[in-house]
Amino acid sequence: MNEAAGKPAPRPGILDIAAYVPGKSKGPAGVAVRKLSSNETPLGASPAAIEAYRGLADRLELYPDGTAGALREAVAARYGLNADHIVCGAGSDELLSLIAQAFLGPGDEAVFTRHGFLVYEIAIRTNGAAPVVAEEVGHRADVDNILACVTDKTKVVFLANPNNPTGTYIPIEEVRRLHRGLAPETVLVIDAAYAEYVRRNDYEAGIELVSGSQNVIMTRTFSKVFGLAALRLGWAYAPPNIADVLNRIRGPFNVNGPAIAAGVAALGDRAHLEAAVEHNDVWLEKVSVALRDLGLHVTPSVGNFVLVHFPDEDGKRAPDADEFLTARGLILRRMENYHLPNALRMTIGDAEANEAVVAALAEFLEPS
Ligand SMILES: *Cc1c(COP(=O)(O)O)cnc(C)c1O
Repeated sequence: MNEAAGKPAPRPGILDIAAYVPGKSKGPAGVAVRKLSSNETPLGASPAAIEAYRGLADRLELYPDGTAGALREAVAARYGLNADHIVCGAGSDELLSLIAQAFLGPGDEAVFTRHGFLVYEIAIRTNGAAPVVAEEVGHRADVDNILACVTDKTKVVFLANPNNPTGTYIPIEEVRRLHRGLAPETVLVIDAAYAEYVRRNDYEAGIELVSGSQNVIMTRTFSKVFGLAALRLGWAYAPPNIADVLNRIRGPFNVNGPAIAAGVAALGDRAHLEAAVEHNDVWLEKVSVALRDLGLHVTPSVGNFVLVHFPDEDGKRAPDADEFLTARGLILRRMENYHLPNALRMTIGDAEANEAVVAALAEFLEPS
């Protein structure tokens, strides 16, 4: 008998999906945990955002504003955008899924890079389209390789800039060159989840590229530097033709009221944002240098995390390091799912957590 008979079958492609595995948050019983596995900010959310969130606690019977108008206005004012071209989502993950849902179906292809963010592949397969992987060069997206993957079946190209988990970025000139190489019918998604952290003269998140096109979307999130990951809040800036499409298919109340209020307040707290970026600037450098001094290879990162590569030596590989660190309550991210079995990703934490990881890895690497 046909194995599939007698039970519902999902659409083709869905059973090919490897479910997303979030960062661990637990260590051994009784050991204090420092979670550096999900790129969360060690500074937490802005106190103003927390207050705004609490302010809605006794109004939970009310539906939120389905247009998230206050948030779109606040984002528009902050970044100099037209609020009509902003679409909010329950995390940028939702927006990435909506984009895939709107533009991908069976027979279509979508391109992302070898170590690109895993949500793209899930979103592509969910819609029955074929994922196409462009090789990176030095763990960095390579525009020529991406363009070489593009065919007339390619409907969407996903680029995380900077990328998670590698932490690398490509200059805006390269993103423009990528865009010029695509047909006007192909959607270019620039996922700029870590844009606020990047301090490089040749980096831009892609706002101008969106404004001047009909096929570029930039996605942003409140989960990372703004510290609102628990609320699930993101936004996309898109040309009117694409914003219109996303607005047709999104849930009518896809962003919740406390999230809208907290997001508006977070945008207003410049000092908190600057403190978070400043902290990261200092510790990204310190951690990268300290780990390299231990002899580890650290991919140069502009995000709030580093990709650390371990020696190919018995007892010193990434899974061994992970076990050693976890026993001490230091939780980093395993990278097998990202085809980086001998690397761990470490989120930049507070001073104490960062120093604890460096000290533990020094001990781990000592010749036995
Ligand atoms: C964390 C992250 C996101 C954001 O996810 P949310 O759904 O907004 O929490 C998007 N893209 C990348 C590359 C990320 O690392």
